[in-house]
Amino acid sequence: MAAPLHYQTIAELSARLQSGEITSVQLVQAVLERTRAVEERVHAFNSRDETDVLAQAAASDARRAAGKALGPLDGIPIGLKDVIAVDGQPLTASSKILANFVSPYDATVTTKLKAAGALCWGRLNLDEFAMGSSTENSANGPSRNPWDLERVPGGSSGGSAAALAAGEAIATLGSDTGGSIRQPAALCNLVGLKPTYGLVSRYGLIAYASSLDQIGPFTRTVEDAALVLQAIAGYDECDSTSFKVEIPDYRAELSKRKGPWRLGIAKEYFGEGLDPEVAKAVQAAIDHYRGIGCEIVEVSLPHTKYAIGAYYIIATAECSSNLARFDGIRYGHRSSATRDAVDIYSQSRAEGFGDEVKRRIILGTYVLSSGYYDAYYLRAQKVRTLIRNDFLKAYETVDALLTPTSPTPAFRIGEKAADPLSMYLSDIYTIGVNLAGLPGVSIPCGFTQAGLPIGLQIIGKPFEEAEMLAIARSYEQAHDWTTRLPQL
Ligand code: GLN
Repeated sequence: MAAPLHYQTIAELSARLQSGEITSVQLVQAVLERTRAVEERVHAFNSRDETDVLAQAAASDARRAAGKALGPLDGIPIGLKDVIAVDGQPLTASSKILANFVSPYDATVTTKLKAAGALCWGRLNLDEFAMGSSTENSANGPSRNPWDLERVPGGSSGGSAAALAAGEAIATLGSDTGGSIRQPAALCNLVGLKPTYGLVSRYGLIAYASSLDQIGPFTRTVEDAALVLQAIAGYDECDSTSFKVEIPDYRAELSKRKGPWRLGIAKEYFGEGLDPEVAKAVQAAIDHYRGIGCEIVEVSLPHTKYAIGAYYIIATAECSSNLARFDGIRYGHRSSATRDAVDIYSQSRAEGFGDEVKRRIILGTYVLSSGYYDAYYLRAQKVRTLIRNDFLKAYETVDALLTPTSPTPAFRIGEKAADPLSMYLSDIYTIGVNLAGLPGVSIPCGFTQAGLPIGLQIIGKPFEEAEMLAIARSYEQAHDWTTRLPQL
């Protein structure tokens, strides 16, 4: 039996739209109905505009009726994390400081989605300014994991993951600075893709740590990830770190690349802190690849143990600079209890930012301050180079690496909130990928006894998304994890 419309894939729905079996308005109505039924429990959205998405759907149907359909995304509602600008829509980063801000322009990914006919649907919850791993740092309260409403959906793109897992969108976009797409995807039984740094434009993404941030899709299947990536990838002169590379036909490449591959297992990614049920599921995935003829090679990424330290210096340093613009003058919230200019800055920021954002601005300002810059920031940058070199060395012998995405399945809301260090440790397998600028994808690879999803991370070579996705799909097609749905 086919899944209800709100749980189908882009590939399935675009075929139905094309054949005339359904219209985009019907699809959107199904998604809206589902959203009304579950959103109170899931809390994936910061805001949403039903009238607007229905108007976009009607325009898509009219285009199709005129024989001018735009491609596989035409008529598909895609949710956007509330750090990606959509002209005329709220843009809050789940922060009080931007509570009333309305975006005056489209991000490049938004422009590209619109050009592909996709419908921009809702503003999805996140940890404030994307700082966190659980969405508990949102000024609007946490999103909940559709697989267990007492647990977090992961973060920072937790709203993007929760919405998709709950059937409130057909795909979503998130941003990934240290794991914010891959970790929530793992915790919610979804495919989450973080592209190579520079493949997708950051123009119109609220910056957290600019040298690490990338936008990428959450989808139900690898094929859908290829379809969304196709629409959003490519050089953009508005982003000075955008790369000029040729963009392949990602979906077509999926069936052309058949392996067998040489896949690396890094022992540093299977150590202390890894939940035994996660370890077992990932091991079973490794055995699957061995069984289909892949060569499994043990590799070493010896600087892994320094990744969290280096990340939390570089990310906080960059965020302290990026967030300086939120000063009560140029953007957002301005305190009313102010006497002079200095007061406006400090009071507006004190009232507007949450605890985690303040903690990071303070840390970042410290590591950049004179006398400490060399000891912390400069040294972290050197460690970053060593981490990247570890990966590049491994890629001399393997095509991709297999790792767990997150050391544990979804944890309880509140469980780690009072302990920032244990929260930071949940990024241990994802942040190296950002420091090295590599592509990574998390795909479903099983469930715990308690029914919580587990993710497998595949890390590819720079700009080799096509190969990485083909490796992911070969596993996906031999298993039925992606078709399992949460009971909501
Ligand atoms: N959890 C990490 C952090 O808090 C990563 C977040 C992200 O990727 N945006 O920085």
